[in-house]
Amino acid sequence: MSLRRLSFAIQHTRKLHRSLYFSAAEMARAMTVTFLGTCSGGGPNESRNCSSLVLDCKLANGALWMVDCAEGTTRQFAFQPPDTPSWLKPNSVTKMFITHMHADHCMGIIPMLRNILYPPSIDPNAFVPINPHPKIEIFGPAGIRTFVRSIMTMTLTHTADKYVVHELLRPDDVPTPCDPPEVMHTNEVAGKDIWCSEDGFWREFTIGRSVFGDVLVDAGPILHRDPCLGFIFREHEEPKRKIVILGDTYDPSPIIPLCMSPSLLIHEATDAHIPREIAPQHRRTPEKVLHTALARGHSIPQMAGEFAKTIGAEKLVLNHIGSRHVCSFPAPRHDRDSRLLVIREIERQATEAWGSGRHAMAAWDFMRVVVPAPESESMRQNDQNRSSSYEHVYADVGADGLPYVNKKRKW
Ligand SMILES: [Zn+2]
Ligand SMILES: [Zn+2]
Repeated sequence: MSLRRLSFAIQHTRKLHRSLYFSAAEMARAMTVTFLGTCSGGGPNESRNCSSLVLDCKLANGALWMVDCAEGTTRQFAFQPPDTPSWLKPNSVTKMFITHMHADHCMGIIPMLRNILYPPSIDPNAFVPINPHPKIEIFGPAGIRTFVRSIMTMTLTHTADKYVVHELLRPDDVPTPCDPPEVMHTNEVAGKDIWCSEDGFWREFTIGRSVFGDVLVDAGPILHRDPCLGFIFREHEEPKRKIVILGDTYDPSPIIPLCMSPSLLIHEATDAHIPREIAPQHRRTPEKVLHTALARGHSIPQMAGEFAKTIGAEKLVLNHIGSRHVCSFPAPRHDRDSRLLVIREIERQATEAWGSGRHAMAAWDFMRVVVPAPESESMRQNDQNRSSSYEHVYADVGADGLPYVNKKRKW
């Protein structure tokens, strides 16, 4: 192993053992992203479920938003480490954003709906007050409405609450009709057909109200082997944080105008070349790895790092980690697990291409990333006796103390 790789691995492995604390006041203002599934479509595997993550923008009533919803997502809520601060509840999810229609990103939607929507009464004569407003909104590409409607129908699913699906449509897409009303599922409310603007983007197509003001959501196209979206969640007022979450991609450049200078970029890294001195079973050349990744519409860590550099991201997290037998990168179980070196190598490749002096992180299931709001002077002074107000949250600390947070590293 080269000295450079070895020193990088040792340096960052040591840093796993450092902790970073956030005060309760800081956590009350922080935006967080919790990964419920971090593997590519070859999964799930022993340590990773397929794609889904939960966004906490500190919205009114504790509402949460979700991006992608793979099979098994509902169960992942139950599998959160018991000492997780701010335990996430499926019932709190009010909006779901689906990047694309591949099965590893949307097959968990119906089980989530069955969990979130109240079941019908067993007594046919009982009066059940049905809320005419949908309890959950789903946003996604053309076809998502048909997908949800068909499976709700075919699984004979009936609920007391309503749901709605809005489609983000491109000019050549065929919308799924909601008219006449008989075509809809009985628990469905007619959704909006949201056509992209002339430059191909969906700007501010939905909104949430947080403690700081409005949180706006934009979407734009990214290149994958089938139509795919990236989502941008941004605060309208100060501190104007911006979180960019991309679906699967081999080239996200079409979305660049929407996502410059984000506080956090989440980018896929499905495949990676791992030198044989780190993992003898990985025998493919760097060229072969790149060729295969591109041919399947995916990225390698360097591409994620280069994109983070292009848009000037403040933090970079790698997601959709390879899970097929020739490119399998399971999350290590503990800090002495030799597979940790593989993950560190993936992070090293992205970190070098990023060139920001900060450390890219590869996501693992239940990892929580904190995007804090800058502290005001008065808050800083109030925090003189921080030790008494600390929420006990642990963090992996990157090169400059980046607050990647989890109560306990699970791997
Ligand atoms: Zn995928
Ligand atoms: Zn895909």
